[in-house]
Amino acid sequence: MTDRLYYHDSFLYDFDARVVEAFDSNGRTAIVLDRTAFYPTSGGQVHDLGIVTAGGQQITVTEVADDETGRVLHFASEPLAVGAQVHGHVDAARRLDHVQQHSGQHVLSAAFIRLFNMPTVSFHMGEESCTIDLETNGLSAAQALKAEQQANEVIAEDRPVGIRFVPLEEARQLGLRKLPPKQTGDLRLIDITDFDLTACGGTHVRATGQIGSILLRKIEKVKQGVRVEFVCDLRAVNTARRDYTTLAEAAALYSSHIYDVPEQVRKSLTETKAAGKAQHKLLEELAELYAERLLAQAAGSPQVITQFFPDRDVVFIKLLAQKLTAGKSNVVALLASGVGQPTLVFAQTPGQKSNMGQLMKDATAQLGGRGGGSADMAQGGLPANSLDVDRLTSLLQETARKL
Ligand SMILES: [Zn+2]
Repeated sequence: MTDRLYYHDSFLYDFDARVVEAFDSNGRTAIVLDRTAFYPTSGGQVHDLGIVTAGGQQITVTEVADDETGRVLHFASEPLAVGAQVHGHVDAARRLDHVQQHSGQHVLSAAFIRLFNMPTVSFHMGEESCTIDLETNGLSAAQALKAEQQANEVIAEDRPVGIRFVPLEEARQLGLRKLPPKQTGDLRLIDITDFDLTACGGTHVRATGQIGSILLRKIEKVKQGVRVEFVCDLRAVNTARRDYTTLAEAAALYSSHIYDVPEQVRKSLTETKAAGKAQHKLLEELAELYAERLLAQAAGSPQVITQFFPDRDVVFIKLLAQKLTAGKSNVVALLASGVGQPTLVFAQTPGQKSNMGQLMKDATAQLGGRGGGSADMAQGGLPANSLDVDRLTSLLQETARKL
């Protein structure tokens, strides 16, 4: 078993050790030291990074993992000789960030228990933010705010955080916030003075002030309860900075204050909706006028109307097809749109003898497109390269001859 130096000192970044094993693990080099300050991924906390030097050789530690026999595996860029004396150096900035997030989690989880009796069932540390899952049916915004406030008060009080090892039997009497499911030997306890006592193998601050601050962000319902996203210290500053930049950019677009952005967006959405409605009404009127004019020009029974609209979209030609075939007379409309993907719409006065779906299949197949529909109304798309006035017009006329 590896002697875990980080158990006793979370701020130990440099250490000396001896290589006891070095082997290939699925194509990667795994190195086991007799003692290590490198933290392996466990208990929600992400592993450390850093370097190990032996003589003139320097290797990069890319991942650190626990194995089931109690060894800490350092995955490295190159192998090291067994028996070699090495010096390890842990990436201090990364470690400090993890320490702050993890201790922040303990404070926050304790606040949720103390205030609302909501236990934390899992903790996840991500690249940018962390989450805890609370076992509860719901969490109001006001409750989240209260927990955030209590957590920040505890941080400001700079309460000492102690590490101690106690036998399991003794630990049971201490009223821990969380007791691990199965455990042999002594339990490692993290003690935030007069606020939280819990079993944990992670690295922690010396006093709560080192957490800096805690900011809650997204709160969402998940299967096992409610997931609370949070960030501590520099992560909180960086996140708040990015939120502000984003909001300021949106505010500049509206020439408004950042706090007026939601109101401005609401106004914009209402206006867009109204404009969309007005446009649709105009299109309907336009289609109506087109329909009247085209019907006045078409003779015969059925009155057959073939027309290509290079600058009208499919919404318009569908509307027009409906207007053309909505009356009492027997009409067949064979229309094409040239906006976006070239599109055909065929329609007949309902219940007439032709089959628009079949005509559409045949017509689109000729130009390598696809389409279909009912006997009275059909639609089809053509490849972009078939957008040619002459080809589309002759396709419509050819279809008209088949009626
Ligand atoms: Zn922990």
